[in-house]
Amino acid sequence: MAKYIFISGGVISSLGKGITSASIGKILESRGLKVTLMKCDPYINVDPGTMNPYQHGEVYVTEDGAETDLDLGHYERFISTQMTKFNNVTTGQVYNSVISKERRGDYLGKTIQVIPHITNEIKERIKKAAQVSGCDILLVEIGGTVGDIESLPFLEAARQFRHDMGEDNVLYIHLTLVPYIKCAEEMKTKPTQHSVGTLREIGIQPDILICRTEKPLSLEMKEKISLFCNVRKEEVIEAKDVDSIYQLPLVFKNQILDEIILSHFNLICKSSDLKEWEKNVVDKVINPKDKVVIAVVGKYIGLQDAYKSIYEALIHAGIANDSKVEIRKIDSEDIQKHGASAPLKDVSGILVPGGFGYRGIEGKVKAIQFAREKKIPFLGLCLGMQCAVIEFSRHACGLKDANSTEFKPKTKYPVISLLVEQKKVKDLGGTMRLGAYPCRIKRKTKAFGLYNKELIQERHRHRYEFNNKYKKLLEKNGMVFSGVYPKRNLVEIVELKDHPYFIAVQFHPEFKSKPDKSHPLFREFIKAALDRSKVKV
Ligand code: GLN
Repeated sequence: MAKYIFISGGVISSLGKGITSASIGKILESRGLKVTLMKCDPYINVDPGTMNPYQHGEVYVTEDGAETDLDLGHYERFISTQMTKFNNVTTGQVYNSVISKERRGDYLGKTIQVIPHITNEIKERIKKAAQVSGCDILLVEIGGTVGDIESLPFLEAARQFRHDMGEDNVLYIHLTLVPYIKCAEEMKTKPTQHSVGTLREIGIQPDILICRTEKPLSLEMKEKISLFCNVRKEEVIEAKDVDSIYQLPLVFKNQILDEIILSHFNLICKSSDLKEWEKNVVDKVINPKDKVVIAVVGKYIGLQDAYKSIYEALIHAGIANDSKVEIRKIDSEDIQKHGASAPLKDVSGILVPGGFGYRGIEGKVKAIQFAREKKIPFLGLCLGMQCAVIEFSRHACGLKDANSTEFKPKTKYPVISLLVEQKKVKDLGGTMRLGAYPCRIKRKTKAFGLYNKELIQERHRHRYEFNNKYKKLLEKNGMVFSGVYPKRNLVEIVELKDHPYFIAVQFHPEFKSKPDKSHPLFREFIKAALDRSKVKV
């Protein structure tokens, strides 16, 4: 039977609960356990797919095509278990299914209530996530901050879990903040005490506290927290700010958090160290030998989380090339207004990410034209590929004003357009081309050299496709269509020959990059950018 760890957060949001959960997963996995993680999101949307990135950050897509919270991206980057649609549950999904059951008559005669109907549905989903993954340990991260109205049913379900499953099978970890008050030169435990107090009111006494701090927690502080919050002082774990998120598993390992958890569950596991992780990931991030500047030209650059997996994939590619990747975030609307040359003249690589809607598109097209003409390494992702096709059609194939029908439905040259089945779609939620699809790569292309195999699987999240009507013309002018989805003959990868690195893909390789296994498209992009940074231009 699986063991369950619930992770809640208090005091403020943005304490890094996702990365904390993923790091705990990592240290437990290193002990030989099969671990998986799950995120409970208290919002009423069924999934984050219809939300603006400014509301929610990136939408992370799983192999099986679920549009999920970006924390699932952290989970996949830290542990080896692949996430699925069962690893993210929202209030919207829970109510949706309870209400459908009520309409079907499943609860005939009953009044449907938060307790037990909603909490039972939540518990069923948690058990299902453990069961389908066949894990030894399921870590359940509860979104929001303790005290929020929205997360109450999830916390109540977590409370009931120990009652249902027994003391030895359920553990509660609470993440809090111990702020440093500069003018008093003091750290304060009161917010932690209050947060644990609120959790206790709900009926949960945390077993382990993880305290985010700017400065080290003294023994005295730990003793104080221990006394007021009713946890042993060894179980007050310090999570001081780190330079790289990938250090966090080591921080926990050094405080034997894995051992504390295992002894709570009465589990005896093989010993482990994280030497490989330390050597191949942490040391490389902290001590890079080289540096390269990459421009990310998007429209959500003001928000750290909007392109989370892309930024991480660039860091991973830096690790693989022993280099620091300095990311220069450039608003595509600025390029649209003021041109590409000023912001892009001294970068060594240009990346155009995915997105929706017309705003900022012309700036992306200009940035791509600059990359193509000045021979700056370029990587286009999803909308980035569609813009690369638009740019090439307009400026290299004479198709003036070529466009995507997403931006100009009546365009004369619809080089990107909708497939017939997408034209019929009315609902916006969950109806795009989602999840993993196979792609066949043409031999003797750059893409083939990178993947070194013919058939690959990558994840998708888009509605529009390259319009095959224009394939011949673009080919004649030098665009290589190096990857297609064989069953439907849909273009997946385009590249240019006379260019050091110009690749654009309809899928999202960023979702599959790992810190110790950089994605080849990113790895070689950074390599090409490093080569460029060494030659005087
Ligand atoms: N808006 C484009 C489409 O729907 C691209 C989507 C994306 O970049 N994820 O096809």
